[in-house]
Amino acid sequence: MIEFEKPGDCPSGENCPVHFRVDREIRRDDEFLYSHITYVGEYCVMTGDNPAYVNNPLPAVVHMMEHGRLPDDCLATLVYRVGLKGTLYDIATSGAPLVPERTVPSGDLDAAQANHAITVSWVASL
Ligand SMILES: [Zn+2]
Repeated sequence: MIEFEKPGDCPSGENCPVHFRVDREIRRDDEFLYSHITYVGEYCVMTGDNPAYVNNPLPAVVHMMEHGRLPDDCLATLVYRVGLKGTLYDIATSGAPLVPERTVPSGDLDAAQANHAITVSWVASL
């Protein structure tokens, strides 16, 4: 990743979700996809592809071949402490997620959305 002296140097401007605190939700269907980012105080709540499979897709591929569907934990909600002004950019140095990830099956976008909302409420109560 390219590092900038200050966030304003990013060519993507203030809509850049990496360098600015941009809450956003992307929900699709048919070929799945759920991506939701919510900032709550010094925390970032993220729901999307389970990082375990992003970094190592082989177990998911093997599961797909053996069972004809993706594993039941393809989507995950994670909470990172990024600081009051922190962004996605700061997750790399924020350490491990705050809580064990909460996972849902890849096709269940309703469950992913509910998982995210529950987690945001919990983080807001901290
Ligand atoms: Zn940027």
